[in-house]
Amino acid sequence: MKHRRTSLPCGFQEDALIAVALDEADAALRQAVHTHIRLCQACCGVFARYCSVQQVLTALQDPRDVAEPLQRAQERLTQRLVRQPAVHCSYYWCSTVLAHDMQAVRRPR
Ligand SMILES: [Zn+2]
Repeated sequence: MKHRRTSLPCGFQEDALIAVALDEADAALRQAVHTHIRLCQACCGVFARYCSVQQVLTALQDPRDVAEPLQRAQERLTQRLVRQPAVHCSYYWCSTVLAHDMQAVRRPR
């Protein structure tokens, strides 16, 4: 993918916002960005979105955050997949005083 430099409507460079959000900017750039986003609402919104992306990426890099919920989900799923004990029935004809009758009996397992 070709890297493109994007200027925001206010003229500020989106790259600068990204660099600061990803904590890859030097102190001067950090200062410039924070000064700008205090005054520019549009850039403040863009910066906030990149910060939330960064948080998601950080969380994804930590397997501990995933391991525990995954374990719990697996346990719940296993419980649901356990089959309920089935009642086995068999049917047969038997003669009674009144008539032939079909009876269902519970067959011991
Ligand atoms: Zn701006």
